[in-house]
Amino acid sequence: MKPINIPKDYIKRKSSTVPFGYAFSEIDGYFKPVVRDLKILYVAQEWIKEGISLDEAVFFITENTDKTISKPGLWKKLKGNNQVANFYNVDIKKLKKVCKICNRIYFHSPIGTKVKGTGKRNYCTKFCKRTNIARQNRIRNLYKMLNNKPKKGFIYCITNPSFEGWVKVGKAIDTEKRLASFNGSTPYRNFKLEYKRKFENYTRAEYFLLCKLNVASEKQSSEWFKIDLNKAIDIIKNYQDIDITPENIYEYHSPKSNLISNLQRITYY
Ligand SMILES: [Zn+2]
Repeated sequence: MKPINIPKDYIKRKSSTVPFGYAFSEIDGYFKPVVRDLKILYVAQEWIKEGISLDEAVFFITENTDKTISKPGLWKKLKGNNQVANFYNVDIKKLKKVCKICNRIYFHSPIGTKVKGTGKRNYCTKFCKRTNIARQNRIRNLYKMLNNKPKKGFIYCITNPSFEGWVKVGKAIDTEKRLASFNGSTPYRNFKLEYKRKFENYTRAEYFLLCKLNVASEKQSSEWFKIDLNKAIDIIKNYQDIDITPENIYEYHSPKSNLISNLQRITYY
C-alpha cells in the first residue's frame, strides 16, 4: 500500500537510475528532490528559452551542481510536458542579467556560488570571457605592433612574368636591396619593381594595405595577391594613412572582421 502523505515534489521510481535533480528517499519506491539541483535545472530551462545552446546549459548545470547531465538527457527533461516547474519559487526576474561582454541575456545561479560557481558575475559564460580576453590580447598586440618605434619605409609592388596575374606587396626600407634578394633566388633575375610609396610608419601602412588588398583581390597567398597590377597600385596610391590610438583601434577590429586573420599572420609570422 502507498503511504498517504507522500510530499508532492517526490517522484515515483520507474527504474533504478536516479533522475537528475533527485535522490533515493526514505519512502520506498519514491525519489526525493534535491532542491538546489532542481533550482539550477529550472534556471537552465529558462535560459534555454532565451536562446542559450544546450551545450552552454549543460555547462551551467555542471558548473553549479558538481553533477553531470548529457545533452540528450537535458533535452528529454525539458521538452514537451516535461518542463521543470518552479516548485521552489525561484525569482527568475532577479537572476536575469545582460552580459557586459556580448550583450546576451544570462542568468545568475539561483543558489549562489557553489562548486566552481556562477554566483554573481558580469558575463554570461566562461567561454565568452575567454574569447573576450583573447580578443583584448590580440588588440593589445596589434596596437604594439602598429605603434612601437615607427620606421619610415616603402610599400612596394613586385611582379614576375612567371606568375602572371599575381602581385607581391610588401614593405622594405631599401626596395632595391629587396628586389636584388628576390632576383638572387632565381636564375632568370626577372622580378620587377613596379611601384613604391614612402610611409612614415611602414609597418602600419603594410598592415592596413594587406587587409585592403585581401578584400580587393581574387586570391591571396601570403603576400602575393591575384589582382590587376594597376588596381593594386591604385589602392596603395590612394591609401590614407591612419593614426591608430587606443580608442580608435576598436573601429578597425570587430571580432567578425577578416582583418583578424591578417593580424594573426603578421603578428605571429
Ligand atoms: Zn557574453
